[in-house]
Amino acid sequence: MNHDSTSEGPRCAKPIDSAVLADYWLAALAGIEEETVEEHLFACDSCGARLQEIIALAEGVRFLAREGSVRMVVSDEFVQRAERDGLRVRQYAPPPGGSVECTVTAEDDLLIGRLAANLVGARRVDLCFCDERGVEQFRMPDIPIHPDAGGVLYQESMTYAKASPSSRLIARLVALDEGGAERLLGEYTFNHTRSLPGPGIWLQV
Ligand SMILES: [Zn+2]
Repeated sequence: MNHDSTSEGPRCAKPIDSAVLADYWLAALAGIEEETVEEHLFACDSCGARLQEIIALAEGVRFLAREGSVRMVVSDEFVQRAERDGLRVRQYAPPPGGSVECTVTAEDDLLIGRLAANLVGARRVDLCFCDERGVEQFRMPDIPIHPDAGGVLYQESMTYAKASPSSRLIARLVALDEGGAERLLGEYTFNHTRSLPGPGIWLQV
């Protein structure tokens, strides 16, 4: 493939769908479909370049997630796989309306908050983060949910958590209806005590 020509070279007349390219890379395509994509990629620099981008993006996300340095909602499978792979996972499960004492040590790889909530019937769920007075600071809109999962697993950024001073964080799960009205699903207080050396600093994430 001539990558120098991909930016200005001829655009592909029948570009392969990005989802199909991702499946191709994951070896998730059926035999005949895989062959068709492969033949196309041999001849098409444009789609070849897009495949490279998809691979780089997916690897980047996976790397960041495994590093534990991004704030994200994760699945139970993600946590189980991380533990199987030998990562040290620290988990806290405050009861809805309740609180938990928490910390993070230098050896921890992932920091997970288990937020129990009844998600049945929820169309859109936002995860909100509030300061110790309960004033919202930021939110993750429309997080991925499984209605029968019984809650949400939140991965705090390990970079952020290891830097943080002792503090109180209040997380809220809210469901939004079609009109945008909010319904509180659960509120969870994390009383974080810094156990690493130094006073800690607030990082922008
Ligand atoms: Zn193409």
